[in-house]
Amino acid sequence: MRRKTRQIHVGKVAIGADAPIAVQSMCTTYTRDIESTVAQIHRLEEVGCELVRVAVPEEVDALALGEIKKRIHIPLIADIHYKHSLALEAIRQGIDCVRINPGNLINGRKSLEQIVAACKERGIAMRIGVNSGSIDALDQRAQMQRVQVRLRDDGVLERTDPAEMRRKEREHLAERMVNKALEYLSWCEELDFHEIKVSLKSSSPLTAVEAYRRFSERSDYPLHLGITEAGTLVTGAVKSAVGLGMLLSQGIGDTIRVSLSAEPEEEVPVAYEILRSLELRNRGVTFVSCPSCGRVEIDVIQVANEVERRLSKVQTPIHVAVMGCVVNGPGESRDADVGLAGGKGRGVLFRKGEVIKTVPEDQFLDAVLKEVASLLPEHEAKVIYPEGGIQDRAGVHRTRVEGIGVSVAKS
Ligand code: SF4
Repeated sequence: MRRKTRQIHVGKVAIGADAPIAVQSMCTTYTRDIESTVAQIHRLEEVGCELVRVAVPEEVDALALGEIKKRIHIPLIADIHYKHSLALEAIRQGIDCVRINPGNLINGRKSLEQIVAACKERGIAMRIGVNSGSIDALDQRAQMQRVQVRLRDDGVLERTDPAEMRRKEREHLAERMVNKALEYLSWCEELDFHEIKVSLKSSSPLTAVEAYRRFSERSDYPLHLGITEAGTLVTGAVKSAVGLGMLLSQGIGDTIRVSLSAEPEEEVPVAYEILRSLELRNRGVTFVSCPSCGRVEIDVIQVANEVERRLSKVQTPIHVAVMGCVVNGPGESRDADVGLAGGKGRGVLFRKGEVIKTVPEDQFLDAVLKEVASLLPEHEAKVIYPEGGIQDRAGVHRTRVEGIGVSVAKS
């Protein structure tokens, strides 16, 4: 059951209460480079990004925001550290939300109060972001990982339990993060400002989970979930899936960002995959493919990867399966809107549970994509299945009898 939060708006996107859990990302371009930033935001829009954040380290970046905002279609969030003057300029430029950590603003509360006044005047939202790294945790974390050995009076050696110490430290750190966030919120509330979402990020999924859980027991402000500095594509996707998955499955979280050391366009599909796996959003392709094994009769790995890649911009909810053989293939394929189950050098194509036809392996891509396209609105169909069909094939020929990589027999 989703936790009941109050609802705020970031531009046209509702966050909190019963609004869909929104997916956001952050540009890697220099914000002052308007062309590159707008181009990257357009690519993010194509893969379903609903909110976008940009870094504003200097005035020249703040001054670029108005032009960027004019040329994009999703709400724009400015990420500000230290200088409240940058936040004030960003707000003047027409952004939809400002992200700050009041703890690192020069002149702290005084600066926050000026930003709040500007947000109120323009009717825009604010994210208060508290990161574990900013809660002077580093020394303590180093300490907690050190095993301590103590000689008791009776001569027995006693070792600390590092896992238990880490748990205690995590709880302590999470509590300090939550207290900080609540303190900043109280500053805003004294100014009668409530259009706020909160994030409590950490690069440790368990610390973030602990902080978000504790916060949600004590406040109903909507939460922006994220595991910060999560890592590269695989590492970051796994950490985010674990951390965000634990929270979302408990009804905590109103908007999410998956942080990856990768192109931001890669973050958005991971976020949607997390939400689809928990049945919280159904936007885009639910993709099922088997890992393949010694029973496989088609090159399922390449076919599956190629089909998934070509469907990456589809936003219509659709279920597609690519399976390697007759053991699980027909079952999974039948449950899909479009499914392919491999056989010897050929595959059976299913549409909504019905067998449509058998296709030779050099036509797998064409057959699957054509069938998917027939279920999509025209603008998406055109992107995945161009006029004239798909001429490419995916993968090498393989059968158990003939082996891998022999050429495809033409009939
Ligand atoms: Fe192996 Fe067939 Fe299962 Fe794929 S569907 S993993 S090929 S048994």
